[in-house]
Amino acid sequence: MLGRATADQLLCDATVQMRISLQMNECICRYKSDEFCLLFRTADTQVISQRLEEIMNAVSDLPAKAHINYTLHLYCGVAICQDGKFSTSQIGIMLNQAEQALKTVKSGYDNEIAFYNHAIHQEESLQRQLENGMEEAITQKQFKVYLQPKKNLATGEIFGAETLVRWVRPDGTMIFPDQFIPLFESNGFCVKMDLYMVEQACLLQRRWMDLGYKSFPISVNQSKLLFCQQDYVETLCDITAKYNVPNESLILEILEGLMITDIPAFNQTIQKLRAAGFQVSMDDFGSGYTSLNTFTSMDLDELKLDRTFLQAIGTAQKTKQKTMMGNLIATAKSFGIRTVAEGVETLEQEEFLKSICCDLGQGYLYSKPIPAAEFEKKYLKNS
Ligand code: C2E
Ligand code: CA
Ligand code: CA
Repeated sequence: MLGRATADQLLCDATVQMRISLQMNECICRYKSDEFCLLFRTADTQVISQRLEEIMNAVSDLPAKAHINYTLHLYCGVAICQDGKFSTSQIGIMLNQAEQALKTVKSGYDNEIAFYNHAIHQEESLQRQLENGMEEAITQKQFKVYLQPKKNLATGEIFGAETLVRWVRPDGTMIFPDQFIPLFESNGFCVKMDLYMVEQACLLQRRWMDLGYKSFPISVNQSKLLFCQQDYVETLCDITAKYNVPNESLILEILEGLMITDIPAFNQTIQKLRAAGFQVSMDDFGSGYTSLNTFTSMDLDELKLDRTFLQAIGTAQKTKQKTMMGNLIATAKSFGIRTVAEGVETLEQEEFLKSICCDLGQGYLYSKPIPAAEFEKKYLKNS
């Protein structure tokens, strides 16, 4: 935003401020891009906090001093060598701990400091455990398919179901996707896991067809990394062909945030998917920064309105939220796009959705996500 030269100058000025604050035998280095490391000779958290605050205040003031209208925020992650016997061999460990602590504050809108602590340590070791166990989890079928029904609001019938992954560890503990999907997205494993879930969805479709149950589409969540694979559409077609299920029986849920970077490439993949018969749904719509304009430039089958819309209906902004949701649904409909509201929890919400002609509802009011076998018993056996 400021241009390279100004930004570089700011980094240099920040370095000067940090260097001024150093005492005997302490040091500073530039770690990477806009990250710096400071080594203090104290283990007193109060002293550390105070010294860091002074530095952060001084650095935050730099743009104003240079007559630049820009607010600088600094985030600090701190690791302490507890036993007081600091040696250079510990630097690697401490840097890692400081980075873990830093990750917990980086989203703030203010100067912030976080100390590496027991909770971060536990989270870190859990993440490491998950990463070590993920390959085995696929081969040992530890990822379980849970299904949540989508209800046709006009007829009351089940329209379809969304697959939601649960990781059941060998000791029986169940881990929810929020705990491992972000990790899998950063280490790339989500490609494998999502394809595994697609395969499970096909297995279910095959089974239901063989048993003569009424068929309906199954939605699967697709991560950005998978969606951007060169041979994405072909890979999906190979899987559906393997189980001999029609591509039309799968709805691919793609996160709203996914499309911002490259709309033409995104559209091209969507067109290819739809030409192959798959249905495409935009998930969590309204949670990100998609403008109505980009939404109108896409060929979608379904739009899933984020849960936050319904949550907002219980707040002071109620009337505006309701109007906006009604208009969004009307717009989607005029393009021939099916609409789904997520997170339906009350009858009042359902009534409202019916009044604005939303097609489908999904939420705890109808059912929590349940194991596939239970879903089959509850919704298919008698249909
Ligand atoms: P999502 O796709 O938005 O899925 C809906 C989430 O909302 C699910 O959480 C579901 O249990 C929860 N939910 C459903 N109805 C209600 C309701 O009435 N009220 C409230 N408060 N919550 C409701 P879950 O299963 O923990 O999944 C969280 C997220 O993890 C999903 O959000 C999805 O983004 C991701 N995810 C789940 N399975 C997969 C997968 O196989 N692949 C990928 N890439 N992501 C997945
Ligand atoms: Ca979803
Ligand atoms: Ca969603």
